[in-house]
Amino acid sequence: MVENFNIKKFEPLNVSSKFAICGLPIRVDTYKSCSFQCLYCFSNCRKICEFDKGLQVGDVGSVERRLRKIFDNGNVSKNSFLDTLISDRITWHCGGMSDPFQHVEERLGITKRLIDVCNQYGVTILFSTKSDTVYGANIRPDMHAFQLSVSNISDNKNIEPNVPGIEKRISFFKELKREGFKVGIRIQPCIPNLSTLEIVKAFEGADNFTLEGLKLVPQNKEHKEKVLEATNLSQADFTQMGLLNLKPETRIKMYRPFVEYFEKHGIDYSLADNDMHHIGTNYCCCGDALIAKSTRFNNTAMCKIYGKEYAKEQIDEELFKSGVRDCKCNHLFTSNRQEGCVSVQDFYDKRFYRANSPFSPEFLLGDHIDPVCGAEGEEG
Ligand code: SF4
Repeated sequence: MVENFNIKKFEPLNVSSKFAICGLPIRVDTYKSCSFQCLYCFSNCRKICEFDKGLQVGDVGSVERRLRKIFDNGNVSKNSFLDTLISDRITWHCGGMSDPFQHVEERLGITKRLIDVCNQYGVTILFSTKSDTVYGANIRPDMHAFQLSVSNISDNKNIEPNVPGIEKRISFFKELKREGFKVGIRIQPCIPNLSTLEIVKAFEGADNFTLEGLKLVPQNKEHKEKVLEATNLSQADFTQMGLLNLKPETRIKMYRPFVEYFEKHGIDYSLADNDMHHIGTNYCCCGDALIAKSTRFNNTAMCKIYGKEYAKEQIDEELFKSGVRDCKCNHLFTSNRQEGCVSVQDFYDKRFYRANSPFSPEFLLGDHIDPVCGAEGEEG
């Protein structure tokens, strides 16, 4: 392992701005940019939030200082969303922005160091990765779980040029399972005609499956064209929901064989598209089996606890119980600052009844296109 003091560091711990639709809002990333270079990846293509493309590494020292402050000194900063969630022992999600076990990990070992620090404080972590190794990190089945991202099993180098081959990733999956880890498979991006049921069969015995459709960043024209060409899709297959999402009817058709298979075989699953969070078996779309503790105020959990038509009072109750009501979230959104939303409670008060807010029940698709029940106007 090599320590290189010339590499820029960034603050690796954050609360996700998606806290209302994600059960694991504590995000930790060990690298910015990713050498796996997936064509569809937002880390590499999202021009609207483009960052320095040079290698940057997470400042593990800053994570250690925060954990010491919270758990050794009992100092949870008043109204800090991050401190409150950490002290509540919500599982961390590592790998949302870049792969924690990409090639450079072998040389720099930043993820390994993060794990060593977190292990001292009993922090549980879900790792999302496309790697076939953890490069000797001290992973433990009682603290860590894995979500392996798979979009195809044909080793499609047009869209995933530097990702390890599928046979190596299947071997890694089996090795983790043999060692007692919980392992889920995230079929994301789910791509018509490429992401097939064969993935589920190749990873038989996974503890959960999550499906999420391909999305494109409309502002990045060049990237959009490249992805459309590589996937044999056209812009007509998409609809704008902030990002360009595959049309609901296209997704339903693509997901139905999966959902029928999961239901028939009693396999846990989730649909992670913003308008489909109510469909599946989990309180968190990453899969409950993989997680020590997720939040109860995200919309997947709300649908599970109270049903798809959950009410504002019920959200308020969950915010109160979890102690986050007065936490500050204004730093997470520009629009929050413009509207004067300071606390998490302000955020829900202003946004809950907006039909275009992804966590509002009105945003969720109607039952008539629930893939479990069959879609109106769809064949089968
Ligand atoms: S492995 Fe993940 S973070 Fe890395 S390029 Fe692919 S999608 Fe992006």
